[in-house]
Amino acid sequence: MDDTRIVYLDNNATTQLAPEVQKAVADVEASVYGNASSMHTFGRRAGALVEEARRNVADLIDCNPDEITFTSGASESNNTVFEIARSLIEKRGGGRIVTTTIEHPSIMETVKYLRSEGITVDMAPVDREGRVRIDELKKLLGDDVVLVSVMTGNNETGSIQEVGLISELAHACGALFHTDATQAIGKIEVSCRKWNLDFLSCSGHKFYGPKGVGVLYAKKGVPFQPFVHGGEQEHGRRAGTYNTPAIYGLGIAAKLAKEGLQEEHDRLWAMREKLRKGIVASVPNVVVNGCQEHCLPGTLDVSFENVEGESILLMLDMRGIAVSTGSACATGSLEPSYVLLAGGLDVELAHGSIRFSFGRYNTMEDVDYVLEVLPPIIERLRAISTH
Ligand code: PMP
Repeated sequence: MDDTRIVYLDNNATTQLAPEVQKAVADVEASVYGNASSMHTFGRRAGALVEEARRNVADLIDCNPDEITFTSGASESNNTVFEIARSLIEKRGGGRIVTTTIEHPSIMETVKYLRSEGITVDMAPVDREGRVRIDELKKLLGDDVVLVSVMTGNNETGSIQEVGLISELAHACGALFHTDATQAIGKIEVSCRKWNLDFLSCSGHKFYGPKGVGVLYAKKGVPFQPFVHGGEQEHGRRAGTYNTPAIYGLGIAAKLAKEGLQEEHDRLWAMREKLRKGIVASVPNVVVNGCQEHCLPGTLDVSFENVEGESILLMLDMRGIAVSTGSACATGSLEPSYVLLAGGLDVELAHGSIRFSFGRYNTMEDVDYVLEVLPPIIERLRAISTH
C-alpha cells in the first residue's frame, strides 16, 4: 500500500492545468503585456492572441468566432443570460423563464433573486435518473416563455439532458434556448449549430484551462444585454480589460479538448466504469445515482447507506484521495444535495453520497488504489454508525 499516493478525483470541481496550457499562459504573461484593445503594436499583438483563442473555442463548440464573448467564467455567463431574459420580460411587459430543478447554483441563486424582483421562473422536474421530464417541461412551455435554460450535463450526477430536443421545444414556443455546458465541454461533443443553441455557458478551468475565464456563446442576432458595463470590449458585450494570458490559455485548452475528444471520452468512461463495477462488487448497500446510459464519462456519484458522505470524504483524503460530497459550490453546507433530492433520492442516502470525477491525468492505477482503500473505510464507518 502506497500511502504517499495522491489521487485527484474531483475534476468536476476543477481540473489541473494542462502542461501545454501552463506553458502558453506563462509565455504570454512574460512577453505580451499590451492591452488587447490598444491600437499600437503592443495592443495588436495581444489582440491577435485573443482572436486566436476565439477561433479555437468556436471550433470546439461549433459556432462562429464572433458569436463568442469571453467572461470570467460560467457563473458570469449564466448570470448574463438570465439578465438578458429579465430585460426582455421588462421590455415586453411580461413573460416567463423556464429552467430545471438541477441547475448549478449560479442559476438557482439567480432564479431566487429574479423571483424576489417579481420575475416568474418555472422549474421543470427531473426523473429518478436526473433527466428532465420532457412531459412536465412541455406543460410549462407557452408563448409567454422568453427563455428556456437546461444544462447539458449535471455536475453531480453526470446525467446528460436531451439538449437538441429541448432546444427544439423551446423554439417551437418562440423562446430562446440556453444550455450551461460547463461540465460537458471536452467530454462529449457539444455543438451550438447541431443543437441550434441561442446561448451556451462554459468555464476554462473545467477542461484543463485557467480559472477565472469562461465563455458565453450568443447566436448571431439574438437579443443581448451586457451584465458587466463599462468599456467597449467584446463589441460592448462585456466590459473589462482582456486577461490575455488566461484567454489565450483557454484557447489552447479548447484546441487540446477538440483534438482528443473521443479518446478522452473513452479513457474517462473506462476508468469510471471500472470504479463503478468495483464498488458495486465490493461494497454492499450502495446506490449509483444518475443516468447510467446518458452520462458524462468521468462522473460517478454513489450513495453509501448508513454513512455520512463527509466522513467518507475525510477518510479518503487521509489516504490521499480527493473526492467530493456534491458540488464544490455547495461545500460548507451540511444540507444534502438538492440535485439528488430533486431526482427523488431518499434524504438519508443523499447524505451518504460521494462524487468521484475523473480527468485527463487519472490512470487505471488510481481506480485500483480507490478500490483497495474505499471498502474498508465504508466497513469501518458502518461499524461505528449510529444509524
Ligand atoms: N455551471 C456548472 C454546471 C458548473 O459545474 C460550474 C462550476 N462548478 C459552473 C457553472 C460555474 O463555473 P465557474 O465557477 O467557473 O463560474
